[in-house]
Amino acid sequence: MSLKPPASSPKPLLLDGATGTELGRRGVDISLPLWSARALLEAPDVLHAIHHDFLAAGADAITANTFRTHRRSLAKAGMGHRAAELTRLAVEIAKAARDEQKPDAIVLGSVAPLEDCYQPALAPDEPTCRAEHAEMIGNLVDAGVDVILIETMNNLPEARAAAREAQRLAPSKWIISFCTKSLGPAGILLSGEPIADLLGGLHDAYAVGVNCVAAPSVEAQVRLLRESMPDHVRILAYANIGYADEAGNWMVTDAVDPAQYAKYAQRWIDAGATIVGGCCGTTPGTIQAIADQLIRAR
Ligand SMILES: [Zn+2]
Repeated sequence: MSLKPPASSPKPLLLDGATGTELGRRGVDISLPLWSARALLEAPDVLHAIHHDFLAAGADAITANTFRTHRRSLAKAGMGHRAAELTRLAVEIAKAARDEQKPDAIVLGSVAPLEDCYQPALAPDEPTCRAEHAEMIGNLVDAGVDVILIETMNNLPEARAAAREAQRLAPSKWIISFCTKSLGPAGILLSGEPIADLLGGLHDAYAVGVNCVAAPSVEAQVRLLRESMPDHVRILAYANIGYADEAGNWMVTDAVDPAQYAKYAQRWIDAGATIVGGCCGTTPGTIQAIADQLIRAR
């Protein structure tokens, strides 16, 4: 699988949209702690259909449903020993959909925060993060993903730990994406730490970006990353629609409809992003709207 596009490519790479919230929208139980991982056991056909629908909508890359298949998350449901097995199953479902629908599409392997995405204070210490992310990334490499996608990183020690393990286990075939604060200056993680302290160590990344940030605040983050990173490192962005309630359940709103979201995505591209897609709350309709927008903009 060759990686594409080059950093200077005129055509952006289109990612898929949300898997977890889309499973919920289609009636699959996504209650915590398993969240999207439950679908691997109870609704693999729905998961396959979601991958299929994102590819049909125009996605050039799909993300395997491995956001919650690391050992720590599964252990909360008594299934920690099944981390490698369920990670492999998620990658197999994504690859099967890819091979059927769009054989040259990329399969990304999601590496999520070890604890709650929106509570950076819960993150384990850096050595623990290194050990646990090494296991997760190793499982994804063994399962045969094309690129590692470290996403929604909300604090510096964990982001640094995951990046170092990706550099070691999947050199140059890894992406890191941060969850930054929507308000205030750009480049501040949910933990309050500036990403600037880490960027110098990320030059081996295939791409660096932001995700699960409110769509209106993404443009400033993209601009900062494009100015901060060397040209060969691509910039990616995929925003959310909606918000998490106090119990951690995702509440979808229609505050950003697909056509509006596509206009935001165009702004991210104009600001220097070459990889765009959708995070929580986005649907195949969102990705279709971006695909249509990319055609119009050519
Ligand atoms: Zn998200």
